[in-house]
Amino acid sequence: MNIGGFAKNSLIDFPETIACIVFTQGCNFFCPYCHNPDLVAGSSKGAGLSFDQRQVFDFLKKRQGLIEGVVITGGEPTLQKGLVPFCTAVKQMGYRIKLDTNGSRPDVLAQLLDKALLDFISMDIKTGLDRYSLVVSDTFDIQRIKKSVALVMKAGTDYEFRTTCTRPFVNPEILNDIGKLVSGARRYVLAKCSRNVAVLDPGFIKSDDHFFSDKEMKALKMSIDPYVQQTIVR
Ligand code: SF4
Repeated sequence: MNIGGFAKNSLIDFPETIACIVFTQGCNFFCPYCHNPDLVAGSSKGAGLSFDQRQVFDFLKKRQGLIEGVVITGGEPTLQKGLVPFCTAVKQMGYRIKLDTNGSRPDVLAQLLDKALLDFISMDIKTGLDRYSLVVSDTFDIQRIKKSVALVMKAGTDYEFRTTCTRPFVNPEILNDIGKLVSGARRYVLAKCSRNVAVLDPGFIKSDDHFFSDKEMKALKMSIDPYVQQTIVR
């Protein structure tokens, strides 16, 4: 595992679970509003810090009984060759695991689910399926996103789908299309994009045009509400 960051304690990143956070290095998407630019290969800042995996295991050994879970986020964790053995070892230590993913590697997601290694999945849906070229290369196989959505919804593991709401990635019509894709889903999170952090494309946050007001976020919620059991605006 190529680990670019580690947070010892979080009460907000894993529902009902006190967790630490492992940030993996590298991503195959290029979201201009990305809040972890140092973890995305090719960003202007290049690779971030590197943590030895053993440091994480040492920490987890010491904290057994004190924290309950591990959030694995990124970057995109499913790009990591060592993800399955890493999760296996973490699980053997008795921790719950939450995976944050952009859904681009359904093959890896399937392996993790087959081995019952995940307790919670948070999958980002970036935009409508016909607009993914805004964040990935034209050669990206969009069927992968569809496969990951189907895997997440069938798995029996707790989950949420999540979209960071900015233009041109989201509007009510796009969310209506996404709603059809995830119809029947348990929970959909619409995240308002913060402008007060470093992002992958600093020019992106300079323009007001990309951002939604609270009132507009409510309208976006109404577009996805009919398709899912619960919508949360954060
Ligand atoms: S927001 Fe997530 S998927 Fe997009 S570039 Fe950043 S780490 Fe990758």
